[in-house]
Amino acid sequence: MKTQARVVVIGGGIAGCSTLYHLTQEGWSDVVLLERDELTSGTTWHSAAQVTNFGAVQTMVGLKTHSINLYKELADDPDYPINYHHATGGIRLASTQDHLDGYRHFQSVAKGMGVGFDILDAAECRKRHPLITTDNLLGALWDPLDGDIDPAQLCQALARRARHSGAEVYRHTPVTGITQTAGAEWVVHTANGDIACEHVVNAGGYRCNEVGAMMDVVHPVASMEHQYFLTEPIAEIEALDFRVPLIRCPTDDFYSRAEKKGLLVGFYEQECKTWGLDGIDPDFTNALCPDDPDRVLPVLENVFKRLPCLTEAGIHTIINGPITYTPDGLPLEGHIPGRRNAWCITGLRAGLGEGGGHGWLLAQQIVHGEACYDTWCLDPRRFGRYADIEYTAKKAIEDYQNEFRFHMPHEFRPAGRPARVTRIYDALKQAGAEFGVVNGWERALYFKPSPDFHETHSFRFNETFDVVAAEVNAVQSHVGIMEVSGFNRYEITGVGAHDWLDGIMCSRVPRKVGKVGLCYFLNEDGNVKGEATLANLSGGRVWYGSAAAAELHDMDWLMERLPQDGSVEIRSLTDAYSILMAAGPKSRALLQKVAPDADWSRDGFAWLSAREVVVAGHEIVAMSVSFSGELAWELHVPIAVLGDVHDALTGAGEEFGLARFGLLATESMRIEKGYRHWKAELVTEFNPVESGLARFVSQNKEFTGKAGMESQLAKGLRKGFVSLQLDGNGATAHGGDSIVAGGRVVGTVTSASWGHRVNRNLAMGFVEPAFAAVGTALNVEVVGEPVAARVCEPCQYDPANERVMS
Ligand SMILES: Cc1cc2nc3c(=O)[nH]c(=O)nc-3n(C[C@H](O)[C@H](O)[C@H](O)COP(=O)(O)OP(=O)(O)OC[C@H]3O[C@@H](n4cnc5c(N)ncnc54)[C@H](O)[C@@H]3O)c2cc1C
Repeated sequence: MKTQARVVVIGGGIAGCSTLYHLTQEGWSDVVLLERDELTSGTTWHSAAQVTNFGAVQTMVGLKTHSINLYKELADDPDYPINYHHATGGIRLASTQDHLDGYRHFQSVAKGMGVGFDILDAAECRKRHPLITTDNLLGALWDPLDGDIDPAQLCQALARRARHSGAEVYRHTPVTGITQTAGAEWVVHTANGDIACEHVVNAGGYRCNEVGAMMDVVHPVASMEHQYFLTEPIAEIEALDFRVPLIRCPTDDFYSRAEKKGLLVGFYEQECKTWGLDGIDPDFTNALCPDDPDRVLPVLENVFKRLPCLTEAGIHTIINGPITYTPDGLPLEGHIPGRRNAWCITGLRAGLGEGGGHGWLLAQQIVHGEACYDTWCLDPRRFGRYADIEYTAKKAIEDYQNEFRFHMPHEFRPAGRPARVTRIYDALKQAGAEFGVVNGWERALYFKPSPDFHETHSFRFNETFDVVAAEVNAVQSHVGIMEVSGFNRYEITGVGAHDWLDGIMCSRVPRKVGKVGLCYFLNEDGNVKGEATLANLSGGRVWYGSAAAAELHDMDWLMERLPQDGSVEIRSLTDAYSILMAAGPKSRALLQKVAPDADWSRDGFAWLSAREVVVAGHEIVAMSVSFSGELAWELHVPIAVLGDVHDALTGAGEEFGLARFGLLATESMRIEKGYRHWKAELVTEFNPVESGLARFVSQNKEFTGKAGMESQLAKGLRKGFVSLQLDGNGATAHGGDSIVAGGRVVGTVTSASWGHRVNRNLAMGFVEPAFAAVGTALNVEVVGEPVAARVCEPCQYDPANERVMS
């Protein structure tokens, strides 16, 4: 066995084999895979191995397309052909209008990635799958490329190709420990000796937390038992001269596909079971959990109604095996938080269909630093430390129970909540807050006008429209407060702090005490990596603020670039403070009342400045920044005194018409102002010029990514950021919807909202440069219907910023 390699991949299921193969494809051949048993001896060997193109976001659609193309190529390889039922077709059933609305939206998402889905009516579903009944069936989404593959052959084919390109695979080589040398090299210890490497990859499947523990890491991954039945031959199937399409049903929680002359039927039962949370038997390999047909009996009743042929079918085999889940159901693929050059590709619950694409995106990140798509939806750092195994197990159960039920807009499911709250959570709840979740933190979406107010989640306008309108109106006309819990905040100190930040940020870094600046930073390719608000406080402290979700991401980015000479120090204050935002024309008067010793005047506390003030006897940090486009201050309040400051504001608020507002109102106002949101408009697929942020780039200095950006710009623009005004008034667009011109997709929506102050249906997105000029007429697909739209100025509300600076 080798003792040194560039990359060591741990685990020989689909995740590990795909990563190994793609590393060789990206040009690295000094790569090794270690497997404790035989390849595919974890979950992979017994997978139902369905391969769909369906995804809720474009990155998922794109990576699944890669899987399908790769699997087809492998199947057609004359030297080592594998069994792949490519393009059998798949039907996702819809029994409600909401399901159909969702499918129309996802059809548009896929279209932007060059993937064509169709919407079928019930009669057409039955034509394509003659064994189903159409009772209570409204229609379906048709994925023409759906199919299934032989999982063991697939992994062998990938490993074989990787070996031909120089990779090595060591079977029966359990990894027993992982250490790191002082020089940051990883050493992977195995039963057969040690291998030192630059990069280590955890692809350990349901044992990923055994491997994680070797690096002192807990991955938010929990396993569920999952079962499918294989039937004896079914006469109706035998009589057909074609392979029946796959079926997935969100109401009856089952899937089905052809298997020989019978059917394979899998179940997502409500009375489901976690697996392996208290440890996994070391001998559980190439193994299954005991058959448990009783568990799925309640699901079977409805399955029989949809597929009556099953009532007579004998069961030939039951497969019950562990399947891994993360808190949001998407895998963890990318950087392990806080561990340099350590990666994971774990928590795959549909790993056969997706594995080809995940290995591809991970290999790109390892070799090039970034993948061709923005991979935030998969990034392991999207979960903070709150996502422990107990939380993850609760979410895994919930996700399993809702396997084919996609999230509706603004839907935040209840399991594991509240995970992170601040001291005013109860007060906000009493005030009627309907909470959403941001990086585990409960954050108010809006405030219910009455205790019995109920929101019907929908892709169209619903009951919250008027509620949000009233909140926006209160902010615009008087003053509103909102708690921005979990806002990411680091304190950066040391003599080198400003110079160091100046080299990382492409924007000008504020240097004067009391000044605040909005800065962007780029990756080496010159694409947008992040956004930070930098505030210079007294005592040489720089406060770095960014989106709550960026907590672990930004810390890794900064720590990897921290000077080794001790001239700069960083500490996180995220858990120590919360933000109360006061916004609206009367915010100054309100603050003057609660903090009379401070100068809140226009000149005394100018826009984009920060200082310590005393409210209710407590020292806090106030910043005059605005995400709403109104005169506003952020009050950064130590958690311990948050209740006092909150009470002081609400107690003084009545005479100023103080109201509460939430995230939905904020979203409406920020889109009216044209402000970008991290991981919506700020993604690693575009450089700052394409993102419409050229004015934030300081050309007269050196910074990370400058050369990459310049070499990109020399080649021209790939896309351009646009704001759009839509004609339709029954629904907004949704992130991922296609923007169309001349019958062709020319771009994608990133965010959308009704602009309540300008009374317009607004969206943001990226389009081909030829369509980015203000005034260009386009169509945006909204819930599947083309809606006329025009490119408009990014800032639709108070473009001169007179209100912010009033
Ligand atoms: C019943 C069932 C049906 C399914 N149906 C589908 C489907 O239709 N479509 C689909 O896409 N997905 C399906 N899945 C999910 C899919 O099978 C998994 O997502 C996928 O197999 C996971 O692959 P993996 O490589 O992450 O994990 P595994 O296949 O478990 O591979 C992990 C490997 O790591 C090895 N390993 C662990 N620890 C060590 C160590 N210390 N040292 C060395 N090696 C180690 C293990 O031995 C194992 O081989 C199904 C799953 C189940 C249970």
